[in-house]
Amino acid sequence: MCGDSMEKLIMIKYGELSTKKDNINLFLKQLKKNVEFALDKYDVEIEFDKGRMFVKTREIDKVVERLQYVAGIHEYNIVFKMDYSEDIDELGRRVLDKVKDYNFNSFRVTTKRSNKKYPRESMEVSRIVGAIILKNMQNKKVDVHNPDLTINIEIRLNAIYFYFNGEKGLGGYPVTSAGKGLLMLSGGIDSPVAGYMAIKRGVKIEALYFESPPHTSIEAKNKVINLAKRLALYNNDIKLHVINFTKIQEAIYRNIPHDYLITIMRRMMYRISERIARRNKCKILINGESIGQVASQTLSSMGVINEVVRMPVIRPLACFDKLDIIKISEQIDTYNISIEPYEDCCTIFVPKHPVINPEHDKCEEYEKLIDYETLISEAIKNDDIIRISDNDDNKFSELL
Ligand code: ATP
Ligand code: MG
Repeated sequence: MCGDSMEKLIMIKYGELSTKKDNINLFLKQLKKNVEFALDKYDVEIEFDKGRMFVKTREIDKVVERLQYVAGIHEYNIVFKMDYSEDIDELGRRVLDKVKDYNFNSFRVTTKRSNKKYPRESMEVSRIVGAIILKNMQNKKVDVHNPDLTINIEIRLNAIYFYFNGEKGLGGYPVTSAGKGLLMLSGGIDSPVAGYMAIKRGVKIEALYFESPPHTSIEAKNKVINLAKRLALYNNDIKLHVINFTKIQEAIYRNIPHDYLITIMRRMMYRISERIARRNKCKILINGESIGQVASQTLSSMGVINEVVRMPVIRPLACFDKLDIIKISEQIDTYNISIEPYEDCCTIFVPKHPVINPEHDKCEEYEKLIDYETLISEAIKNDDIIRISDNDDNKFSELL
């Protein structure tokens, strides 16, 4: 008997995670939690060891679709599982039975044997299975360098698995394994991409949006909520802080020389962000700044803006070209949301000639002109928290 009786499941490879020697278990437990969270709509059974994670489910296609958003997965594949004790010809027959579904001319067989007790070496297994395919199918040839189809066989401790080709996962580390960070999320193209990149490194994101009603619209805020929803797919869920920035911004506009508007405004944003971050146990700030992109992102500007906070500020896009940032935003499906035309608070109060090399002393002098401590405390007190999940059923990982 072959084919239909075979168990079909999803096998996950960890990639970079496997380099974590001592604390690999912590990472894997987090990955398992995240996979469970992402798949909680589906009926799944998850098992893992230090090399692989396996997901058993009847809804295999939907589950595979969802796994592409889970960080820490290097590769995921639909695999066929067979008993360790079956002989090699049986393996060949089963591979043959499944390989018939694929359209290919050239192929190669790659075998990994982590169970060294298995009586045949990897090369031999590949050779025998390859020969069975050549013998039973017409017009097929072996091409080890650039095949149309790769047949992968893994001989593991308790079972033999095989699969075809291989789907790349997101890579990186499981979300939360690095702790939490606060993303300054505007409605632009850059900040969602910056958030995505930090998430991939294992940072669980909370987001902070500065709004300035009535100068900014409800549509602008909804746009940010929609961006956060996209990020929630990767982040399990997102806590979005909305801070009313109107009074601060108006005070700056009325009192500060206009070439320093943006510099001072951003110093205020940084101050508030750091406090919100500390309150919420976020260890870093993350934003979408990129060297040279605008006047507030020259090296001197970054210096005088950064100096008002002590927390590390991570800028994943610091050295990226805009076109490369756009490419990623298209991949993660935030681009079309980001280019919706609603005004952001930064774009409304832009001076004609923002200073390119702002000076520390001038910033301090100008800031004395406004009672910013009071304004900041008030803004933080009114932190409006919106909880966003990747779908609308209101599940949150903090409840786990
Ligand atoms: P983006 O950089 O996201 O495309 P942008 O270009 O309009 O938006 P910049 O003026 O370049 O934003 O600001 C640099 C960074 O500062 C943003 O990437 C974002 O992290 C943060 N930021 C700007 N405006 C806001 C805001 N209204 N709320 C929260 N963060 C903001
Ligand atoms: Mg930008």
